[in-house]
Amino acid sequence: MRGFGNLIDGYRRFRANQSTATREQWQQLAEGQSPRAVIIACSDSRADPATIFDADPGEIFVVRNVANLVPPFEANGGRHGVSAALEFAVTQLNVPEIVVMGHESCGGISAALTGRFHDAPAGEGGFIHRWMSQIDAPSKEIARSHGTGKDAQQLLEEAAIRQSMANLRTFPFVADREKRGELVVLGCHFSIRGGELWVLHEAEDTFRPVSID
Ligand SMILES: [Zn+2]
Repeated sequence: MRGFGNLIDGYRRFRANQSTATREQWQQLAEGQSPRAVIIACSDSRADPATIFDADPGEIFVVRNVANLVPPFEANGGRHGVSAALEFAVTQLNVPEIVVMGHESCGGISAALTGRFHDAPAGEGGFIHRWMSQIDAPSKEIARSHGTGKDAQQLLEEAAIRQSMANLRTFPFVADREKRGELVVLGCHFSIRGGELWVLHEAEDTFRPVSID
């Protein structure tokens, strides 16, 4: 078969590895889903939530986009993909947790920090620029105070996670459920080099590595 970038070999392994138990699991999943968390992750091929959380099908409801951004609640008639996914997961599936997961060496964050696609037309970086303009304020502030090197990149990756968490809380169905203790909003950052997950402790506003014991 042509195309698929040799992915069909992986599909054949996936089929070959299916046990009777797995087949039964698929049968059950066909009836419905009850994921334990929503993960907002980057589209980056190195930061795959299912791999990082060792999650099986049905376990996590994943929304991926450039730089794992959540735009604020806007009922303006736009085609809001992230909002639609959130609305479905939270109000229809009653998922009890939302996790915003950023990652090291994020290309979207780098574009925002350096302004690389500033003034680029759509199709030549313009879409990326427009999408990343959501974090213009922290991008400019961090570029001004820390430049555009590795430390600044990490700071902006973390700032974007905080902003997405704040934006999540502008959705009434998120804020209300969180207030009632029915929903938890979390932020974390995946370090690709170390394969480590760092979680934001909001009370102290610090990211700390998750213990692996
Ligand atoms: Zn990324």
